[in-house]
Amino acid sequence: SLPLFLAAKQHAETEPEKVAVVDVTKGQSFTFAQLLADAAALKQQILDQLSLVDAADLDERRIAFLIPNGYDYVVTQWAVWAAGGVCVPLCTTHPVKELLYTIGDSDPSLIILHPAFEKFHSALQDGIGKAIPFMALTPFTSISSGNETGTSSSLPPFTPAFSMDRRALMIYTSGTTSNPKGCVTTHKNITFQANCLVQAWQYSSADRLIHVLPLHHVHGIINGLTASFLAGTTVEMHPKFDPATIWTRWQARGSSTMFMAVPTIYARLVDYFDAHLRGTDAESAAREGAAALRLLVSGSAALPTPIKARFAEITGQTLLERYGMTEIGMGISCGLEVASRIDGSVGWALPGVQVRLTEKTSGQVVETVDEDGMIEVKGDNVFLEYWRRPEATAREFTADGWFKTGDVARRSSEGAYFIQGRASVDLIKSGGYKISALEVERKMLGLPEIKEVAVVGLADEEWGQRVAAVVVQRENTPPIELSSLRAQLKTEMAPYKIPTVLKLVDAIERNAMGKVNKKTIIKKYWPLE
Ligand code: ATP
Ligand code: MG
Repeated sequence: SLPLFLAAKQHAETEPEKVAVVDVTKGQSFTFAQLLADAAALKQQILDQLSLVDAADLDERRIAFLIPNGYDYVVTQWAVWAAGGVCVPLCTTHPVKELLYTIGDSDPSLIILHPAFEKFHSALQDGIGKAIPFMALTPFTSISSGNETGTSSSLPPFTPAFSMDRRALMIYTSGTTSNPKGCVTTHKNITFQANCLVQAWQYSSADRLIHVLPLHHVHGIINGLTASFLAGTTVEMHPKFDPATIWTRWQARGSSTMFMAVPTIYARLVDYFDAHLRGTDAESAAREGAAALRLLVSGSAALPTPIKARFAEITGQTLLERYGMTEIGMGISCGLEVASRIDGSVGWALPGVQVRLTEKTSGQVVETVDEDGMIEVKGDNVFLEYWRRPEATAREFTADGWFKTGDVARRSSEGAYFIQGRASVDLIKSGGYKISALEVERKMLGLPEIKEVAVVGLADEEWGQRVAAVVVQRENTPPIELSSLRAQLKTEMAPYKIPTVLKLVDAIERNAMGKVNKKTIIKKYWPLE
């Protein structure tokens, strides 16, 4: 098989005038033909900069880059791949300290800076403590449509012969449970990950995806960008998520077909609709525009059922939920048939991905229905290694080659998976019971006065752990008190699952992917734990 971006190149050669990227910030469209030409030119600049003109290629050197969401990012990614390098995309919202962590850990041969981030140049240079060359990226401009684009522009062939086992991409995990780890994937891995999604979700050249996600994560890079380019889908790249903009785009019915986001984005979309569109002249255009989309996907964190229901009420769309992680790309997904999008479930193993549940201590495979097990995954989607962390890599694989995700799930009689959370923080043990924090959160979000919630386990001498809830109250609702909250939850869940500790807060801190770091939450509100 061909590496992903070369397969996309083939597509570009057959349909060169097809728009690959609409860059909303630039207000310009870029064809596949221009993308190929620009990537080939930048590849040359990178090799020149490193004085590697005579060398075969970058030979898996790591190239870090800090570029806003848009066409310039895409060109850089293709250029690095074309040059035989490994892409290390840096997070555009990280402060210098975190950028320095990623740079220090990934140890790149070159750092490419977009002018928007030139302001960090000296602080980064000073902080690195080692001579790493910087390259200033010259932003690209669309060459006006017409005959200029030329189909002859091409990425020069790889020398020596390109191997699918070459390292291609290094993405850092979200750092939810500890320091972010660099996950190295090969061309085989990412090609498989993208192909698998194109098959399952049927991306096509008739699709147009509105892209609002960060580009230093699998969700934005693989599901959003790369799978789209493989299928010839046009990607409309927004600098960041803004609910008003998205509703406006959807109101222009037929202007896009796909949308992918994290649960917090869907929550903000429904809140925005209720506050600004419901009951206005724009209401029906907004509802109908969203209803006309072909596919809306949610993932990266558990989708609260009330958000799914409110979104469906507004748009008639049932969000498709899927499960994945940096190390495996996507592993489990609901299907295109709406009936398969069961509430609280992430669906079935994706084609070609093997998934099993194992018992935590014995490692025995769990065959029983509705029983907790650790999710393990095997397949060409699974990453090669944690960068420079051989012990961590070895620790996370079983002797027979399965990757241990650290997440817990149950499987229903229909074979659908239900994520219970992370074994390390979301499985609370209280009075001999095992409680899924995610399940309690899901139920609590059904109460009208609760806007956001994070459920954690606090150490307790008597019970082992106590269930504690950190809650953001919805505006204009009566004050929440523990006793009335407990009374309300009695009809929703077994008594041992109901929180015995309540902390009302103004906001729950989340990272770029909408994830909550529960260890940080516990430290912040219960420092003596
Ligand atoms: P770190 O590994 O550094 O602690 P992280 O695990 O949050 O960070 P990612 O690889 O970005 O980093 O996230 C993967 C995790 O996100 C999964 O292991 C899982 O816990 C969670 N996740 C992803 N999709 C879903 C989903 N649909 N429902 C519930 N959890 C999900
Ligand atoms: Mg993880």
